[in-house]
Amino acid sequence: MSTAAVLAVAALAAVASLKTARSQEVPTQISAFVVRFLDVGQGDGAWLTTPGGSTVLIDCGPFSYGPKLVGLLKEAGVEQVDVLAPSHAHADHMGGCYHVLNSLPVGQVLWTGQTDSSTTWRTFWSLVGSVGTPVTQLVAGQVFEWGSGVRATVYNPPDHGSGMPFDEYDDSHVLLIEHGAIRFLFVGDLHPRGEARALAAGLPSAQVLKVAEHGSRSGNSYSFLLAVAPQLGVISAGLNNQFGHPHPDVLSRLAGVGASVLSTAEVGTIIITSDGATYTAVTEHEISASVPPGGRQEPPAGPSNAGPAPTTQRSSQETPTGLTSPGFDPHRYLGQGDRYNCPDFASQADAQAVLRAEPTDPNRLDADRDGIACERNPPPFDRDPVPRR
Ligand SMILES: [Zn+2]
Repeated sequence: MSTAAVLAVAALAAVASLKTARSQEVPTQISAFVVRFLDVGQGDGAWLTTPGGSTVLIDCGPFSYGPKLVGLLKEAGVEQVDVLAPSHAHADHMGGCYHVLNSLPVGQVLWTGQTDSSTTWRTFWSLVGSVGTPVTQLVAGQVFEWGSGVRATVYNPPDHGSGMPFDEYDDSHVLLIEHGAIRFLFVGDLHPRGEARALAAGLPSAQVLKVAEHGSRSGNSYSFLLAVAPQLGVISAGLNNQFGHPHPDVLSRLAGVGASVLSTAEVGTIIITSDGATYTAVTEHEISASVPPGGRQEPPAGPSNAGPAPTTQRSSQETPTGLTSPGFDPHRYLGQGDRYNCPDFASQADAQAVLRAEPTDPNRLDADRDGIACERNPPPFDRDPVPRR
């Protein structure tokens, strides 16, 4: 069976576990890294399964979603949650984690250090203490190896040891999760101040971005999106939510950097399967459309009938707008004063990488100080790469 077919089968089986209660249909061993952006309503919740079978939850949706999440995990045969990582202390993110912790063994809680006065937070945190789950406080620079080539790097929050107060949005954790060449970026409800810190900490580009704060206007800035250069932005929001998420400005910022967008409000749970070099996105609604009344189809036998057409299938080998040129190393341009000009770079992304690595900008690549390098001096950007010195 081809790799594409294997991925399609894995994704189909993963969705089938959401749609049916027949746990025997769920593979006991998967060879790919699967990230499910769950349709939790208004909130965030992502369920990650590593190739080795470890389970990671990044947010759990609101409190009311918790029992459903526990049900999905148990139906899939999950007996333990290895890592539980609420992005911050807001109830629409961590509320459902209470039910997870109350129903399944949890190996470790990753915590930003924030607290909240809400009953939802206090109830959850008190349970963490009474169960005795090990807690690790996140600080930018930490790296967690989750096995089978899956690694998480923390870019926010910073060390608050000096007494700097926490901001409920800007101290959302920023987790870059890498599986081979495929990168997923989780940013909770991050706002621009936290974005700036993450970029200053060296945040690289990522193919898949969980869009900040459900697509709120206060969320991902254009300069941040330009730097991260996502191919796919995932928005987790409730259908017809009272906040008007996602905001049209955010959708236009995402379009401006060439990102495709999938929203849980429109397509249900979004399942992304990575083999470390390519990824495939399939949505719950696509799977539902392929399931005839009365039962699930047999898994597809090959590419010719590989189930629903993937929404997105891309390779890390592509060089989409926003990614630096192959082999480009911004460090060779650093510490040399005002030596380079915009036309010295083959693309805007290359110039942006230099600006990110040297924010003092001695080369004045960001003359208008808006965080975006060389946007007004495009030629020969993104056309014919020129030899660099
Ligand atoms: Zn939120």
